[in-house]
Amino acid sequence: MRYKVLVDVYEALDATTKRLEKTDILADFFSRVETGLLPVVTIMALGKVFPVWSEKELGIGSKLLMKAIALAVGVTTLEVEDQIRDQGDIGSATEILYKKRSQTTFFSKPLTIEMVYTNLRKLANISGNKAQSRKIDIILELLSLASPQEAKYITRTVLEELRVGVGEGTIRDSISQAFGVDKKLLERAHMLTNDLGMVAKVAHAEGEKGLQSLSLKPGKPVKPMLAQLADGIKETVLEMGRIYCETKYDGIRVQIHRKDSQIMIFTRRLENISNALPDVIQYIEKALPPQDFIVEGEIIVTKQGKPISFQYILQRVRRKYDIEKVMESVPLTLYLFDVLYYQEPLIDAPLEIRRETLEKIAKTMDNQVELSKQVKVSGDNIEDAENLFKESIELGHEGIMLKDPQAPYIPGIRGKKMLKYKAEPESLDLVVVGGTYGKGKRAHGIGSYLLALNDDDGELKTIAHVATGLDENTLLELSNRMEELAIERRGRQIKVKPHIILEISYSEIVKSPEYESGYSLRFPVVKRIRDDLSIEDIDTVARVNSMFKRP
Ligand code: ATP
Repeated sequence: MRYKVLVDVYEALDATTKRLEKTDILADFFSRVETGLLPVVTIMALGKVFPVWSEKELGIGSKLLMKAIALAVGVTTLEVEDQIRDQGDIGSATEILYKKRSQTTFFSKPLTIEMVYTNLRKLANISGNKAQSRKIDIILELLSLASPQEAKYITRTVLEELRVGVGEGTIRDSISQAFGVDKKLLERAHMLTNDLGMVAKVAHAEGEKGLQSLSLKPGKPVKPMLAQLADGIKETVLEMGRIYCETKYDGIRVQIHRKDSQIMIFTRRLENISNALPDVIQYIEKALPPQDFIVEGEIIVTKQGKPISFQYILQRVRRKYDIEKVMESVPLTLYLFDVLYYQEPLIDAPLEIRRETLEKIAKTMDNQVELSKQVKVSGDNIEDAENLFKESIELGHEGIMLKDPQAPYIPGIRGKKMLKYKAEPESLDLVVVGGTYGKGKRAHGIGSYLLALNDDDGELKTIAHVATGLDENTLLELSNRMEELAIERRGRQIKVKPHIILEISYSEIVKSPEYESGYSLRFPVVKRIRDDLSIEDIDTVARVNSMFKRP
């Protein structure tokens, strides 16, 4: 099919901002395309030649493209740059340069959609010796056959900036309209396969029946199931009845596929990052059976047992060179938490079955592959969930996930079947004004610390008791310091001079008549002792007030 036909469609799409009109234009076009070409035109309608999950990318920078344009129209790259500055976009600039050029061109053969598609895909395979000039040659081959309008869209496609205002939703609606298939069915098929081209082809050739038979397959990532914020642990248990509580690790979410003997790793945006993680691929080869599967998990980096910043992991994943070097200095741990495919698709199975399967098939490997820590909670052991939350925060993780064990895996949806309960990102610096001696084995030391903040008049107002977050040695040291600061003792209670400042994480600020500030903290955990701060630096009732009021 002539590329000109697709270019006319692009122009028509560009001429309207109305989604319904765009849908009509595309539906009319799709119904005129033969089945075999449908996958190509659907992806090109999005301005791409590779799906997002492909390991391949065009990888052509605007500098290289400008060189090719300059050669094609016989001007300098500076002139191309000037034109782009005037027009604001490389495609329109190219079209104008084409129209201006003095030499007449003889189109030796008309450009076809297949040629443009194939040539552009070739670009991704070029590396090594003279890669740049070979890439320019391929682009030039297309540009030399192109009309001004065609050149406009070829250049835009090379940079993956088509600018005709079409997204996946519009494409789906157009396929539905063109082939008379149900929108919901299309959406489901797309969600499971993430291959609009294939979905279009099946819709055309096999109709709704064909779409129904599509399911997820190792090798093609699925959009991940997402979580809503939980109102609270108790509230969630009441609503779900039974929950699976898991540590919420703060790293990057990965979907790992094994197809035949190839292992692929995708991000939550479905990008293929397998090349950046050879170590994780090695772990997976050892930890999981040599069969096709899809599992999900979170990759984190720990330093001396504590998870370190999320940004650090991103850097590690984005890194394309010297991967071996970073591999040694930044060891990764993969926490697996779900399985979507093993011998067959499992997304319709309830979480409890999926977790059981995961536990059966995954071998854990110390600090390399672990299963997410999990406790099963119902009405009578809510404190297990609360303890897991505290433990997670103490260890430096983000909080916990609260999952409905009966729920299927629902791709791409932020639903109510999986919730997250996190510590507030902003911790508070509070001063210790008292404490309570422990009981039994801990009777000699102070087990719980009364914390206060400053009010407007510079007076201290209590806000919470904290009892978790410190190791035994630090607890002992703090107890000793408290003894020296003691100003009053009554029973197991001790009052101290306000001197020790602690940084406190918590899940929520709540109103409470129990403390002088009128507020209290849910699940407070000591992050660290702040000997670098003085009493003037601690947080204030006013700040807590404004944090509480924030939506
Ligand atoms: P956030 O910034 O809170 O991670 P998000 O939009 O990236 O939000 P959500 O779906 O809202 O993602 O929250 C769940 C995220 O928590 C998952 O995407 C995953 O990356 C991460 N996670 C960490 N541990 C787990 C676990 N045990 N089970 C499920 N998800 C987990």
